[in-house]
Amino acid sequence: MPDRVDSNGSDTCLTEARHFSGAVPRRPVTIVGAEGARLVDDHGNTYIDCGAAHGWANTGHAHPNVVHAICEQAGRLTALNENACNDRRAAWFIRLSRLLAARFGENEHGALTRIAVTNSGTEAIEAAMKFARFTTGRPGFVAFHRGFHGRTMGALSLAATEAYRRPFEPLLHDVTHVPFNDAPAVERVVTRNTAAVILETIQGEAGVHEAASSFPARVEAVCRRQGALFIVDEIQTGFGRTGKWFATEHFDAAPDIVVLGKAMGGGIPMGAAVWRDGLGKFTPGLHGSTFAGNPLACAAGLAVIDVIEGERLVERAAALGSRALERLSRGASLIRQVRGRGLMIGLELKCRVQPVLRTLLERGVWALSSGRNVLRLLPPLVISESDLYSAIDIILDTLDGTCHGG
Ligand code: PLP
Repeated sequence: MPDRVDSNGSDTCLTEARHFSGAVPRRPVTIVGAEGARLVDDHGNTYIDCGAAHGWANTGHAHPNVVHAICEQAGRLTALNENACNDRRAAWFIRLSRLLAARFGENEHGALTRIAVTNSGTEAIEAAMKFARFTTGRPGFVAFHRGFHGRTMGALSLAATEAYRRPFEPLLHDVTHVPFNDAPAVERVVTRNTAAVILETIQGEAGVHEAASSFPARVEAVCRRQGALFIVDEIQTGFGRTGKWFATEHFDAAPDIVVLGKAMGGGIPMGAAVWRDGLGKFTPGLHGSTFAGNPLACAAGLAVIDVIEGERLVERAAALGSRALERLSRGASLIRQVRGRGLMIGLELKCRVQPVLRTLLERGVWALSSGRNVLRLLPPLVISESDLYSAIDIILDTLDGTCHGG
């Protein structure tokens, strides 16, 4: 069998390199197919997918029910702007709002039933930011150090990380960043000028950091006092990833807006900002996008919810996640800290993560990084126990060889 990885990559990689924007760090492999939690390259080599293809594949690749829903809808109607109604979209609206109502109940603003549907997570953040300004009439946002909410100019303004922001400044100036888990700092900066506070209850991109148990509720309380909206970003953590439908359920907090993406479309680009009915709605003409709410994505979205419920993937993520954490703890001497909930796991290494990722790829495991020294694992929730354990054994063995005691 040919080597999995050669330093220049395949002819396909070389061709892409002549045209590619350069925006994303890449691996020298050509992936041509995938099923469940396995990726397949152009030589027929397989890789255990511990990245869920950047966090979206909670229901796995090519799940037959999702594929069926997409193919069936593709033969009927793919795209239709929200300026006309559609049966699939209506069915998905009902399903999603029932799901959120069951998880987050009602607060003084009602239930989570108003849905701004988008084509990606970052666009859903933009929709949430615009709606927060529109409905409160206030300019300001408060976001957290190490937070990540996407790459468009508005969403990027919420990131405090210099490396992401600096080349694109000036960004929105009404954004204040405070340390994650610092409730007194939130109390100091949220004012009557604040439209919203935006929080990931488990931060993904900067290394899988979880909020302190009382922190989300304290943020919510400050928002209530000042009349600001409390937004949670569940783009990476949603749809069962952390062993609950939404990571915010691990905490005693009731958001005003929940922002979704990644897993919700089963691989069809999709995002949503869902807010409480009592907050009102946009005036026609203020927001929208050609493909937003397309029936293809809505059909996929319905199938994803069905699969997660039918296969009990939320419970599965919780159970497999705790077994994975236990198995990873056997490598305690190789790892500075193991963090995570469900199948969202961060290993803080004693060495740089990039060489480890490279060796893992050569050994058939596709994992992710989070910053310089955190190895992030987000396997599909359908991953078999044996694939998960094989991946963990390979990871521990690789760490032993690559950064023991480093
Ligand atoms: N918010 C969080 C927490 C994310 O992890 C991401 C993507 O990684 C985004 C927002 C942006 O989503 P997308 O890449 O779909 O635009």
